[in-house]
Amino acid sequence: MSLLVVGSVALDGVETQSAVRERVLGGAASFFSVAASFLTTPVRLVAVVGDDFPAEHLAFFRERGIDLAGLERARGPTFYWRGRYSADLSSRKTLDTQLGVFEHFRPQLPDAYRDAELVFLANIHPSLQLEVLDQVRQPRLVACDTMNFWIERTPAELRRTLARVHVLVINDEEARQLAGEHNLVRAARAILSQGPHSVIVKRGDAGALLFHEHGVFAVPAFPLERVVDPTGAGDSFAGGFMGYLARAGSLAPEDVRRAMIYGSVLASYSVEDFSLDRFRSLTAADVYARFRAFKALTQFEDIALA
Ligand code: AMP
Repeated sequence: MSLLVVGSVALDGVETQSAVRERVLGGAASFFSVAASFLTTPVRLVAVVGDDFPAEHLAFFRERGIDLAGLERARGPTFYWRGRYSADLSSRKTLDTQLGVFEHFRPQLPDAYRDAELVFLANIHPSLQLEVLDQVRQPRLVACDTMNFWIERTPAELRRTLARVHVLVINDEEARQLAGEHNLVRAARAILSQGPHSVIVKRGDAGALLFHEHGVFAVPAFPLERVVDPTGAGDSFAGGFMGYLARAGSLAPEDVRRAMIYGSVLASYSVEDFSLDRFRSLTAADVYARFRAFKALTQFEDIALA
């Protein structure tokens, strides 16, 4: 199935206790599309970059088989985000956000993109997410992400987006905030009543939960010895999830479960280095090897108590 993503392509500043990286490749749509590219090509990327965006990053996207016909190049600076992580990498503070060319971005889908079957609306203004949805004909699955900023500032627009998406992919704090409910099971149920038929709650190193009308499926985070930079883990998860569905050409429950594992696989690789750097040397064989490792990690046999 064809896969389209709209979201930020950015230059990031990242500070951890051990290192600082300046103006490295970032953005939700970058992490999503490169992660997805290990499972399906081409990923159609709808975004905007400025005239300062390095050509080497475009070359990297092309090498990964990403379709750049929907990537607009505008005059002005590329979206810039800067964040600093706590020593244990469990929390981060946004130090700077400069919208740059994103401020006046109006997504225009190339004609060939309008028949996209899978659509991911990464974290951007909910009105832009809706503009993209208005331009696709009959997607089979629409998933979206959002963040506290939009939950607080644009609740009405966000409600309109939620009414039109099938899957919300969101982190635990945002799920609680969106639902006004601390308990995640009850928060998920409240979100399901707003439109989506499924909610994926990302919980960092606690893994991810998929809630849907028939129950819940849980995936652990892969136990890693060394985490370098958590930036983009959630978007890489979404890329692995949607990328697998595109590859499988199916939305059957067993494929959705495998997609949750591939999401966790790509998220676990993304945090092993800064920016998207781990993806530069990653291979399809590595991706499958970790999928198998996940199976070994979670498999057990049922034996009756009697
Ligand atoms: P995550 O770690 O999954 O929250 O994603 C981090 C990425 O999101 C970074 O590479 C940023 O460039 C990008 N980002 C941060 N804030 C925003 C925002 N307000 N809108 C769009 N993208 C953002």
